[in-house]
Amino acid sequence: MPAIPFPAKRVTRAVAQSELAILEETYPQAVTALDYDSPFTLLIAVILSAQCTDARVNLTTPALFARYPTPQALGAAAQEDVEAIVKSCGFFRMKAKNIIAAARAVAESQAGDVPQEREALEALPGVGRKTASVVLSVAFEEAAFAVDTHVFRVAHRLGLTLGKTPRAVEDDVVKLVAPDKLRHAHHWLILHGRTICKAPIPLCERCPVKDVCPSAPIVAKTLAKKARTKMRATIAKAKKKRTRA
Ligand code: SF4
Repeated sequence: MPAIPFPAKRVTRAVAQSELAILEETYPQAVTALDYDSPFTLLIAVILSAQCTDARVNLTTPALFARYPTPQALGAAAQEDVEAIVKSCGFFRMKAKNIIAAARAVAESQAGDVPQEREALEALPGVGRKTASVVLSVAFEEAAFAVDTHVFRVAHRLGLTLGKTPRAVEDDVVKLVAPDKLRHAHHWLILHGRTICKAPIPLCERCPVKDVCPSAPIVAKTLAKKARTKMRATIAKAKKKRTRA
């Protein structure tokens, strides 16, 4: 499947806002798919979710938190024991190391709890801007917008950004969404990316945004080209077969 190019231009602010309004209406209850019951369990789940599905993380964290229910307990855990529990999440050595170190840092912090400031969060092992944004927006209901692979792709396809990096995409989207809706906007885009605006082939015919999305004609053109190429190959193969007969 040839890659579907992103639109070369951003849509107007009016179009961007109508796209976002449609997504808001389509996904009014969108929340994180990760199971958590505290900022600490969310923080650990988000670290584990890098390059892994939320469903897989949700299968892993119950055993992890049953054995290590507090930052103190996880921070004092043996690396190999944690590795054995998180193995199915991928990159398990690095993730085990990071969650132990992050838990220890939280346990040893002055407040003894997950920090609520971006700078302090990003200082934790294994925590980058995206993880900090998820914790800030989901656990603390702060106006933050995390850009993962789905958000990056959907924001580009909708023409909300031409940003080459997650930070550039974040900066563009933040300008389009009211602060009180920002933490929800991440979930609209992520859910849309998982269910309809999929990689590599988006399901435009089922998409509520298709009438305004600048990618809809690009997708149609790319798929039509692919169908023509396939048909030409089939005809050529049939001709070759006839010639040989
Ligand atoms: S119309 Fe297609 S490309 Fe545009 S948002 Fe919908 S599924 Fe994605």
